[in-house]
Amino acid sequence: MATGYDVIVLGLGGMGSAAADHLAARGARVLGLERFGPVHDRGSSHGGSRITRQSYFEGPDYVPLLLRAYELYARLEREADREVALLCGGLMIGHPDSLTVSGSLRSATAFDLPHELLDAKEIRARFPTLAPSDDEVALHESRAGLLRPEATVAAQLKLATAAGADLRFNEPVTAWEALPGGRGVRVTTAEGTYTGGHLVVSPGAWAPEQLADLGVPFTIERQIMYWFEPDGGTGPYRPDRHPVYIWEDPAGVQVYGFPAIDGPGGGAKVAFFRKGTVCTPETIDRTVHPREVAEMAAAAGARLPTLPGRFLRAVTCMYTTTPDEHFVIAPHPAHEAVTVACGFSGHGFKFVPVVGEILADLALTGSTAHPIELFRPGRLGGR
Ligand SMILES: Cc1cc2nc3c(=O)[nH]c(=O)nc-3n(C[C@H](O)[C@H](O)[C@H](O)COP(=O)(O)OP(=O)(O)OC[C@H]3O[C@@H](n4cnc5c(N)ncnc54)[C@H](O)[C@@H]3O)c2cc1C
Repeated sequence: MATGYDVIVLGLGGMGSAAADHLAARGARVLGLERFGPVHDRGSSHGGSRITRQSYFEGPDYVPLLLRAYELYARLEREADREVALLCGGLMIGHPDSLTVSGSLRSATAFDLPHELLDAKEIRARFPTLAPSDDEVALHESRAGLLRPEATVAAQLKLATAAGADLRFNEPVTAWEALPGGRGVRVTTAEGTYTGGHLVVSPGAWAPEQLADLGVPFTIERQIMYWFEPDGGTGPYRPDRHPVYIWEDPAGVQVYGFPAIDGPGGGAKVAFFRKGTVCTPETIDRTVHPREVAEMAAAAGARLPTLPGRFLRAVTCMYTTTPDEHFVIAPHPAHEAVTVACGFSGHGFKFVPVVGEILADLALTGSTAHPIELFRPGRLGGR
């Protein structure tokens, strides 16, 4: 049995690699265990881009965490010497009373965040690729933009390793237990058994398997990201001209998209927000079917007239969704020596480094100064 770790981290995707980075930076002896290789496309942290924004329609409670996440993303870029964020601006579009617009405005107002409100005419004039109807408006946030998930995870793994973390890949955890009497944890893989003072469980879509005793009804959803080559090329979609956007229709369906960040042949990425089908990591259908491409093409084309253009490719990914779509970040209610981070419900990536900071706080001191009350598993009827 290998001993001597202060903290073991189960899962080195977005959240787990952030935890390993922050823990190792504080001098903890860290073991990280990951089912797949470093930076993979089997979980929830791949696909080239994620939207980041501060005027958060999901609720003002998230804003303090976002302000800190922005600082920590800047620190990550500096210390790992790697670009992970591109703040090209963002538009939250819909009718004035849509959640996307009104919720974003609520957070912007509550925290005095820089923003502008644009009517349909102003949207069309400033962003000619977008064709809102006359009764649609947008909240424009210049500090919104995108994050590169693979580069973020790679940077966090690099910093964690440089600070002495022992990171092991292609080594799935098969069992873990909290030892009686507050004596830490024991973690088992095919390669061996490890003990540590504390365990951070950040398993992404494997939460139902790894955290069954939490009692939270997670839903794993298959999601699809699509890339299309716009008619006339990607020139107008260059990130120095084009924002990220989330666009809500009167039925509440949200389409989101990105500037063209992969060069002239790479196309522009679009997707539906929260319109997935239930799956498991084992049963997910990785094939994207022609009827799905047609549905996305129609939705994109209705909003951006130079889309869909030519379909290039599509990739699947998984959300781990809680019933209220808020996260689960907390000490494990049944095990003092275990901290959990899961249920990021399709909007967690922009929080990655601040979640790492919170997990390091909880694992090393048992508490955090960050506001995480909203993320208690007990709110969902679990323990
Ligand atoms: C299509 C899509 C679009 C999204 N868009 C956005 C967006 O625009 N903005 C935003 O903020 N968020 C977005 N999200 C959400 C965000 O990407 C996720 O919330 C985030 O990536 C979740 O990170 P995670 O660490 O929980 O999961 P992951 O990154 O999947 O990490 C979990 C890790 O645990 C490992 N693991 C599991 N079980 C074991 C085991 N037994 N032993 C060892 N390792 C194990 C897995 O292999 C995996 O590497 C999107 C998600 C998807 C799928």
